[in-house]
Amino acid sequence: MALPSIGLGRDEIFDRLDRMKANDVRWRDGHAFTLAYSAGADVVAVAEEAYRRFSTENALNTDAFPSLRTLQADVVGIVGDWLQAGPDGAGFMTSGGTESLLMAVKGARERGRKERGVTTPNVVLPTSAHAAFEKGCYYFGLESRRVPVGDDWKADVDAMAAAVDDDTVLVVGSAPQYPQGVIDPIPGIAAIAAERDINCHVDACMGGVTLTYLRRLGHDIPPWNFEVPGVTSISVDLHKYGYTAKGASVIMHRSKQLRSYQTFLTDNWLGGFYGSSGVLGTKSGGPMGAAWAVLHHLGEDGYLRVTAAARKACEQLTAAIDATPELVVRARPEATLLAVGAADPSSLDVFAVADALWRRGWYVDRQGPPPSLHFTVNAVHEGKIDVFVADLHAAIAEVTAAASAGDQGAYGTVE
Ligand SMILES: *Cc1c(COP(=O)(O)O)cnc(C)c1O
Repeated sequence: MALPSIGLGRDEIFDRLDRMKANDVRWRDGHAFTLAYSAGADVVAVAEEAYRRFSTENALNTDAFPSLRTLQADVVGIVGDWLQAGPDGAGFMTSGGTESLLMAVKGARERGRKERGVTTPNVVLPTSAHAAFEKGCYYFGLESRRVPVGDDWKADVDAMAAAVDDDTVLVVGSAPQYPQGVIDPIPGIAAIAAERDINCHVDACMGGVTLTYLRRLGHDIPPWNFEVPGVTSISVDLHKYGYTAKGASVIMHRSKQLRSYQTFLTDNWLGGFYGSSGVLGTKSGGPMGAAWAVLHHLGEDGYLRVTAAARKACEQLTAAIDATPELVVRARPEATLLAVGAADPSSLDVFAVADALWRRGWYVDRQGPPPSLHFTVNAVHEGKIDVFVADLHAAIAEVTAAASAGDQGAYGTVE
């Protein structure tokens, strides 16, 4: 498509944009079990309005935009409280979970190099740890040592300890891990790091908000944050269960000293001193404004309410799957993520079920191995589970009758 020779008017622009969205998943009314989150139209509206006010402000230099320094400091402070970071805790906002994990990997590499002279660094992590760690190892030249998870899908601490050597700069656990939604044994993993004085990152991109508030609601949540000795950094995505606009995550370090390995400084060009906290240079203030606004709009009572709603919807969905003979739950959800497989994979292709659900307007994630459907249940699904389950049963009946095979799909796509 070529640039119009004469610019279009506003109405035409927004008309065209709206028409382009016609076939997108309707996440605002709960039809997406992945990728998009909503704590209600009012919260989305606050996020969008705050985003608009800061969208062109640039966090590359907060001398020019002190408002962004304040927004970031406030947001990081709130997340630090959630994570039980002590007074030395120090963090940054990033563009998302991926950038947070890239920075965890980069920071560990720098620390290993500066403090111990490690030149061929490796990362020891369970097979369940997020794909972004793989990206980080690839980008920054570290070896990724994947260790199989146990029968309960959780990290196998003894096997991880056995995979660690003098070149290991980072061990990883997730709270919860994405694929099956269970919480890794963080104290065991962190103890490996503490013993060798190396980094331990807890990927709480999904669970950082949820686990904090489930515990405050009285659920029995195993220790996973900075209360665990040996944990050096934690990532929390605010654009997931923080219910803010896309482009907002926080990486918290146990201390400013540990955080210093994340940043980049140079004066080796003709443009003067240049420093940045993460991957980006120019950085929109939009996500910071939206995150600040949503955190303050929801408040403590709001997060208790939306976390309870998400958990209840997840429990309802889990119970409905348990009552569906064609399907099995891979693991009891420990937060709000649920993975589901076929009871008999030779007679039911779960990816075909996902195709049939999409024809009915529902978007669910597909993953494997083993072939599974994945549900990121959030507050938007409150009151929606019954309708979904009716369509799920219809989809299973349709696929079984036609003996269909489905497309494997992908959690992330390239174009
Ligand atoms: C979503 C997620 C990530 C990656 O975050 P993005 O925001 O998609 O870049 C990393 N780890 C976990 C556990 C996640 O759920």
